[in-house]
Amino acid sequence: MLLEIKDAHVHYGKIAALKGITIEVREGEIVTLIGANGAGKSTTLKMISGLRPLSGGSVLFEGKDISKMPGHKRVLAGIGQAPEGRGIFPGMSVEDNLHMGAYARRGDASKELKEVYELFPRLAERKSQAGGTMSGGEQQMLAIGRALMAKPKVVLLDEPSMGLAPMLVQQIFSIIKEINRRGTTVLLVEQNAQQALQIAQRAYVLETGHIVKSAPAADLLDDPAVRAAYLGGD
Ligand code: ATP
Repeated sequence: MLLEIKDAHVHYGKIAALKGITIEVREGEIVTLIGANGAGKSTTLKMISGLRPLSGGSVLFEGKDISKMPGHKRVLAGIGQAPEGRGIFPGMSVEDNLHMGAYARRGDASKELKEVYELFPRLAERKSQAGGTMSGGEQQMLAIGRALMAKPKVVLLDEPSMGLAPMLVQQIFSIIKEINRRGTTVLLVEQNAQQALQIAQRAYVLETGHIVKSAPAADLLDDPAVRAAYLGGD
């Protein structure tokens, strides 16, 4: 097991955002977490990357309890995150933004840079352009590319398709599949449940801080309750 979340609780002040969730991610998988607005999907990723503290339960990575490990150490341990809202450095060039992703790891990152440019030719074409002048979709690619520069074992993706034109949505999902094919485990949070379930092996449904269902992704695509709630009801 690469990543195990056991009975995890997270609070914002007195408000419980996660009320004892258990999630397992095996090496090599794409696992998706679906749920309505406010269900706690982003909070789950922030908890795994160390941006939100646990108020109960634990997070294990490669069998080791990392619940109290600071975020930058989790990056070094192999947990990469492309944060919601992208969080790129607007004044820095695309290439410098990518180098920032490898900064904590040190050493030569030219191989990773080459791989990111293979995955995202658009970034290679625009490597000298300021990150902040890239389009929304391009910035999303940059955020994912930057996360990959640290050579993560697992990458946490928060709504990578948000705000993208339909053609780019397709592209992002096929790139996620390719990232996984090249050996990176993926934990994917998505509003776009249909597409997420199509590329994932397994899925969890989160409702108001509880996991209400976990199953092979293909089963959830056929599940009438899931279809009604998250897949447009047809
Ligand atoms: P969305 O799909 O809308 O992004 P989500 O499933 O990712 O939703 P979270 O962002 O994890 O949901 O939020 C879970 C709950 O925690 C919500 O009720 C939200 O209002 C609350 N919450 C999130 N961030 C904070 C914060 N910084 N302070 C207080 N409450 C918060």
